[in-house]
Amino acid sequence: MSAKIIDGRAIAADLRADVAEEVRRLVGSHGLQPGLAVVLVGDDPASKTYVDSKSRSLVEVGMRPFDYHLPASTSEAELLGLIAKLNADAAVSGILVQLPLPAQINPARIFASINPDKDVDGFHPLNAGRLMTGLPALVPCTPVGCLKLIKSVHTSVAGMDALMVGRSHIVGNPLAQILLAENATVTIAHTRTQHLPDLCRRADLLCVAIGSAQFIRGGWIKPGATVIDVGINRISDGGKSRVVGDVNFAEAVEIAGAITPVPGGVGPVTIVCLLVNTLRAACMQAGLPPPMV
Ligand code: NAP
Repeated sequence: MSAKIIDGRAIAADLRADVAEEVRRLVGSHGLQPGLAVVLVGDDPASKTYVDSKSRSLVEVGMRPFDYHLPASTSEAELLGLIAKLNADAAVSGILVQLPLPAQINPARIFASINPDKDVDGFHPLNAGRLMTGLPALVPCTPVGCLKLIKSVHTSVAGMDALMVGRSHIVGNPLAQILLAENATVTIAHTRTQHLPDLCRRADLLCVAIGSAQFIRGGWIKPGATVIDVGINRISDGGKSRVVGDVNFAEAVEIAGAITPVPGGVGPVTIVCLLVNTLRAACMQAGLPPPMV
């Protein structure tokens, strides 16, 4: 039996259209155009590509981009000064600082200086704490996207046995918290976890974010389980380079009930979730109810 392939590109396209509709409504009813400041420090070509594509997506849904490209020699004090200015600017609903930052800048200090209500990456400790304590929070984009992919298959995850492999602050930890809030029974695995294949075999919902190419084998998957593969790993295959996930897709697709492909699964939805978070931030700051996306 072959699993249902969860089409992240199609889900992302629908979500993008919903965001654009909400932006039109906000502009029309409240004169409020959400704006996102995207800050790039240095000349890393991959980072430049990411921020350019983020700014393009913003324009496509009717939001306002504020682009800041600072030299690699920028000091931490200078960047903190820019963040303070953006924190105080009412036209800026969200602030995104692209990683990696040059060595002279401490990313933790930068993320902690962003107004938590404008923290569209969801990296501020206050937002992490709000998520953990069940308060409204801006949550990192990748886990938000994973939940949307899961909800495309399961209307509810209540009572499901969920295994989160990986415990990073960007993906694993917040996704585990989200699933717990959705009433799944959640286990978190990491590099010190023992008997990982056995734990995987018990999971109705298997989410993997470890950064290790095709690490999870088909034989570890419970028949019919839903598999969310967050990993992005570049491998060379027959002299050609290609991107694969943390799950061995060819094996897993024969056992799972539903699975996200890589590429074309979590990645595209993550990008749109940045727009969703910007919309949420704009509504929150204006004292409006959260958007319907
Ligand atoms: P990370 O910060 O390096 O964290 C990796 C986590 O996986 C750690 O908690 C680590 O455990 C755990 N881990 C590593 N190897 C393991 C193993 N063999 N068995 C069990 N646990 C293991 O990585 P990340 O930022 O979460 O990213 C993970 C992957 O997702 C990467 O491939 C990344 O490129 C991708 N990613 C994709 C998106 C997207 O939009 N699709 C977004 C973000 C990240 P310890 O805590 O014990 O070290």
